[in-house]
Amino acid sequence: MTAPARTDRGSEELIRAEEPVLAHNYHPLPVVVARAEGAWVEDVEGRRYLDMLAGYSALNFGHRHPALIEAAHRQLDRLTLTSRAFHNDRLAGFAERLAALTGTDMVLPMNTGAEAVESGIKVARKWAYDVKGVPADRATIVVAADNFHGRTTTIVSFSTDETARSGFGPFTPGFRIVPYNDLAALEAAVDETTAAVLIEPIQGEAGVLIPDDGYLAGVRELTRRKGCLFVADEIQSGLGRTGHTLAVQHEAVVPDVVLLGKALGGGIVPVSAVVGSREVLGVLHPGEHGSTFGGNPLAAAVGTAVVELLETGAFQRRAAELGTVLREGLATLVGKGVVGFRARGLWAGVDVDPALGSGREISERLMREGILVKDTHGSTIRLAPPLTVTAEELAGALGTLEKVLTSS
Ligand SMILES: *Cc1c(COP(=O)(O)O)cnc(C)c1O
Repeated sequence: MTAPARTDRGSEELIRAEEPVLAHNYHPLPVVVARAEGAWVEDVEGRRYLDMLAGYSALNFGHRHPALIEAAHRQLDRLTLTSRAFHNDRLAGFAERLAALTGTDMVLPMNTGAEAVESGIKVARKWAYDVKGVPADRATIVVAADNFHGRTTTIVSFSTDETARSGFGPFTPGFRIVPYNDLAALEAAVDETTAAVLIEPIQGEAGVLIPDDGYLAGVRELTRRKGCLFVADEIQSGLGRTGHTLAVQHEAVVPDVVLLGKALGGGIVPVSAVVGSREVLGVLHPGEHGSTFGGNPLAAAVGTAVVELLETGAFQRRAAELGTVLREGLATLVGKGVVGFRARGLWAGVDVDPALGSGREISERLMREGILVKDTHGSTIRLAPPLTVTAEELAGALGTLEKVLTSS
């Protein structure tokens, strides 16, 4: 981290300057990041923080991973955008390698996670009409309560979070909401109109909720038996986070469609994708769906470099190994301010004793001690460090958490 600060304004001044000109759709921690490398970020005043959020998994490989930065630089010097009106020389390789990595046939490249979800919904509906034979405009998609799939009008239509929904209607019809981790409720909701079951293999925003063993395999069995698609939103859980390439691999499950985003862009550019079988993605024909930026050469070059990092399995192994350190460390904090936690790989939702403060307050105290995390609901904080974090850094962060919880 050698580059000098590019601003003559301090953190407090910059935070104040945002207030009148920036829409208030976020409530960030009061830290102004100016540069970063690996698992560490530095603020405008040069204070260093361990990034234990990693951009909600968009930074699985850390900030500015050298291989990813090199791939981006190389591509910036050659070709950045063509639109899909023309072919570009990077897209075929990206699609081939991403399909191989995820064990499927076809790739639909998009940009943001929400676009991948929207695209997954459109593909599932088209499949329902063209292949399954659902009468026109009657297709339903079954989703889980407490889901997080993004922020578009259609996606918030099937959110159960009133803050995310309220004031944004009218809502898109065609969704049925069932409790998460409840196969009987799913069985009751799926009928002949059902195009797909759309779930997160682990519910991230809900607090890193991990379903019971057998749930994902049960969803696979049920959707196959009832003749609808299983669409897994792996935008946050996928690409190494849980110790596997995909979180569904914990139950050796292969969904029909997987939605990817966040880490696919290497923390550099937004890159998302719908990956799935030819039977499903093959329903799209020219003109029926698209994106000006989807599959652009810069995104494809960075995405290819991300896939290359994951092809060795090293990051997945690291997440699994360090996940043990994380789980064992958190277990020692139960009763010392932690009332419970859920963890898989390098991903944990930690429920703090509400008497010690809200998740926000705990996050602010951790920030002052040089650890960046994000609260979810109530007194839950989420830990999701870059997969490049070291065991020592992780132990240090857990030590700081213990200090913050026991000194308050
Ligand atoms: C972040 C996220 C999305 C939305 O991704 P954006 O890039 O913010 O649109 C969708 N699904 C899940 C599970 C996510 O974590």
